Amino acid sequence: MSVLVQKYLDEIRAEHADITDGAVAHYIPELASVDPSSFGLSLELSDGYVYETGDSAVEFTIQSISKPFTYALVLDQVGADAVDTKIGVEPSGEPFNEISVDNQTKTPKNAMINAGAIAAVSLIPGADPAERFDRLLDFYSVCAGRRLDVDEEVYRSEKTTGSRNRAIAYMLQSFGVLDGDPDEVLDVYFRQCAIKVTSSDLACMASTLARGGVNPGSGIRAMSPAVVQRTLSVMMTCGMYDATGMWATTVGMPAKSGVGGGIIAVLPSQLGIGVYSPPLDRNGNSVRGLRACQSLSAQLGLHVMSVTRESRSTIRATHDIAPGVRVYELHGDLLFAGAERALRTVEHDSDGIDVAILELSRVDDINDVARRMLAGMRESLERAGKEGYLVDPDRRVMPTGRPSAGAVIFPTVDEALRAARDR
Ligand code: GLN
Repeated sequence: MSVLVQKYLDEIRAEHADITDGAVAHYIPELASVDPSSFGLSLELSDGYVYETGDSAVEFTIQSISKPFTYALVLDQVGADAVDTKIGVEPSGEPFNEISVDNQTKTPKNAMINAGAIAAVSLIPGADPAERFDRLLDFYSVCAGRRLDVDEEVYRSEKTTGSRNRAIAYMLQSFGVLDGDPDEVLDVYFRQCAIKVTSSDLACMASTLARGGVNPGSGIRAMSPAVVQRTLSVMMTCGMYDATGMWATTVGMPAKSGVGGGIIAVLPSQLGIGVYSPPLDRNGNSVRGLRACQSLSAQLGLHVMSVTRESRSTIRATHDIAPGVRVYELHGDLLFAGAERALRTVEHDSDGIDVAILELSRVDDINDVARRMLAGMRESLERAGKEGYLVDPDRRVMPTGRPSAGAVIFPTVDEALRAARDR
């Protein structure tokens, strides 16, 4: 544990603990009986380390925070094309429980509002509702890193009072969005909303998304990176209901809230946040949860739009090791902009050199786009009658395979130099 990070978290919780604004949800009768003073805050890093403060072990119902996970499940199970015919990806500009569909497509605007979430449930493969729910619960449990279960009281409470959701489900059936029996679909939806979690479970589910679909604690893959990318995109534009724009501006992380008082926020590649505090504002978002996330984002610099990476630092050093042979040492993470910078520098220098050697042993991480660009360097140099080599001692950066195709790779700079001389 870092004492400093724990202190930040404790302080942020303390800073907002006295806020009494907002009211607990009572349209689901059972939710009205929760303790409004509960306040838990958890942070899980991408290596699985968890910081928690306050009531981080108190269980509450996940409610709408289930929506991105069910959306991810169906994207994974039936594919984006099939999901897109039933659910859009546009912000609705309406409350979460609005009885509405998109004017043109006659499908729900997105999967983060009730209409879209109910449609998503109907897409879960399974012979019957019980099988669908089991599949869903298994998926959530892998994301949370422990076996989750349902708060039967809350489930029954919503099932007996959920006329509005019933109206939505029957409307969807009338538009051909729901194939099955609306009541069977709703039963799974009410159960999914009543799954019990803690703020630390939510942090784990969020960090599973942050890690591109792999639970950082267990190392188990729950979903593909493509599913995560789609899910986070919809969370970013639709996750916080009508406060999504304000949230994107002041917190700047894909997020989802629920009327149970929970919020998750995801900082891709870095961490997941889970907060619990039941009193809600008029948009249905946890008041203290929102403020705590704003403080976390500001104090720890978590806004996804903050521009921190210096692509210039990609070239660590250059030196000429023989007449006309220049070595470029690259380091750090190599994505499009870093690879572009390296290639531009090499091409700019190419008048004065015959052979460029890119030394990659200090590159930490690289994506396929950058691999293809490095592999393509040779072709662009060849046109000017020059040669480009890569040095990658154990083929860690440029493994054998398609994106590396065309590259000439040596285990050491000396061997690359020898090849340059032979040439
Ligand atoms: N179960 C709740 C409902 O359908 C979930 C809503 C929410 O958390 N915003 O009304």
